[in-house]
Amino acid sequence: MTDFKCPECGYVFSEDAGDEHEGYPPGTSFQSLPDDYVCPDCSVRYKEDFEQI
Ligand SMILES: [Zn+2]
Repeated sequence: MTDFKCPECGYVFSEDAGDEHEGYPPGTSFQSLPDDYVCPDCSVRYKEDFEQI
């Protein structure tokens, strides 16, 4: 699976790990995140801004 990084703060969303603190279980695909998903760390970058790493 793939990781995606916020270009603003460096937060990484890992599809393997998900983000249980935000309500996304392990195995959550980045594509399945809501369109209004924002970076949980900096809150200024949207899903479309994240970079695949
Ligand atoms: Zn961020």
